[in-house]
Amino acid sequence: MSKAIVSSLYDSEVFKMACRQFDKAADAINLPDALRDRTKYPRRCLAVALPVKRADGSVTVFEGYRVQHNLSTGPSKGGIRFHQHVTLGEVAALAMWMSWKCSLVGLPYGGAKGGVIVDPNQLTENELEHLSRRYMQEMVNFIGPHTDVPAPDVGTNEKIMGWMMDTYSNHVGHVVPAVVTGKPISLGGSQGRREATGAGVAYLVKKYLEDLKIPITKATVAIQGFGNVGSETALALAGYGAKIIAISDYTGGIHNPKGIDLKKALTYVQYQKVLRDFDGGEPISNETLLELKCTVLVPAALERVITEKNASKLRCRLLAEAANGPTTNAADRIIEDRGDIELIPDVLCNSGGVVVSYFEWLQNLSSFYWGRDEVITKLFAILDKAKDSVEYQMRKFKFSRRLAALTLGIQRVADAKQSRGLFP
Ligand code: NAD
Repeated sequence: MSKAIVSSLYDSEVFKMACRQFDKAADAINLPDALRDRTKYPRRCLAVALPVKRADGSVTVFEGYRVQHNLSTGPSKGGIRFHQHVTLGEVAALAMWMSWKCSLVGLPYGGAKGGVIVDPNQLTENELEHLSRRYMQEMVNFIGPHTDVPAPDVGTNEKIMGWMMDTYSNHVGHVVPAVVTGKPISLGGSQGRREATGAGVAYLVKKYLEDLKIPITKATVAIQGFGNVGSETALALAGYGAKIIAISDYTGGIHNPKGIDLKKALTYVQYQKVLRDFDGGEPISNETLLELKCTVLVPAALERVITEKNASKLRCRLLAEAANGPTTNAADRIIEDRGDIELIPDVLCNSGGVVVSYFEWLQNLSSFYWGRDEVITKLFAILDKAKDSVEYQMRKFKFSRRLAALTLGIQRVADAKQSRGLFP
């Protein structure tokens, strides 16, 4: 019998949510007790204090984390989030989901995630650089191209990955591009990485609409979050002929039933930083956006936005989880009971990002670079295979699509742990 750890360290609603998902999946595949807790709980974490000298001469100490959930199947992989509401529990949940995601799509990685409690919009460019470099400096002995490889997430981007790669490389004394992915192309970033997550979301949406016999040119789409993932998903779906009727960011949303001019919206955000006061449609709240009548709803911001309060009010046909953990356990049950919404679970839906991060890492390790077409063709082939395996698992065991995806991801991690045995 395995003895459950009561993990107070990660205690939070979002970690509990990830644990409940795990428990349900572990029950569904009868995961032996001796393997359960070993597979479920994060392997290790590091918490760091990050002092940064501010523009006015004062010093602010920020708190940062890195959680490595699983190191049994390869180096761990996962983004770094800069957001004012980051908690260790949230980072642990996101690390856990990275493990199942990498395993589901067949990458030789475990899962990890990092985070800093900071609103990056409140920092000057210099302060942001100092914070990013300080974070990496503290992580030098904890991560590495064969141990744990970070990438961008909410609030971080290519530029930050470039500073981090530079900090690590200076520390070890030679260039190590493979230490982070999502870098600028000039530093060994991959063609197609910036748009990879959104391109993958859009590709899967297209495939699922085909299964539902809905022509994509007749589809309307509402997207919450207009950062890297939300905007790239919008562009790719519009490229397939879908009509984007609503977009939003943390300042609110815009609704235009005739279709939003995405180029105009992107240019506006480039200069204004946020969508607030963008005149391409009627203003709406983030809550209303989620309840709009549309063919495809794409949450592409933060966790736990689809809850028991609004799950019964959704009016979409397809729910594409571009964000990690957007749907609570209670909302999941409501959506399952309704039976009129097809759901593409996060671990499958947004996996395009880590797939192309893997390609970037491979290119860095071999110093041999691929063209964009090669990257995108290989990405879609992996997504097709992952989708087919999820659909097969669903049909075979009569699972929900989320349960099918999670059981596949979890089973492979558990099998690796079983085969490696336990260090005496
Ligand atoms: P980002 O920082 O580029 O964009 C986040 C967007 O969400 C911004 O537009 C922001 O204004 C908006 N937002 C923040 N809080 C909000 C709120 N309360 N209500 C509405 N909108 C809000 O981040 P991103 O990289 O696009 O990540 C978005 C989601 O996708 C996250 O869940 C992330 O974990 C997930 N994801 C990202 C990647 C990647 O490659 N970047 C890969 C897989 C999954």
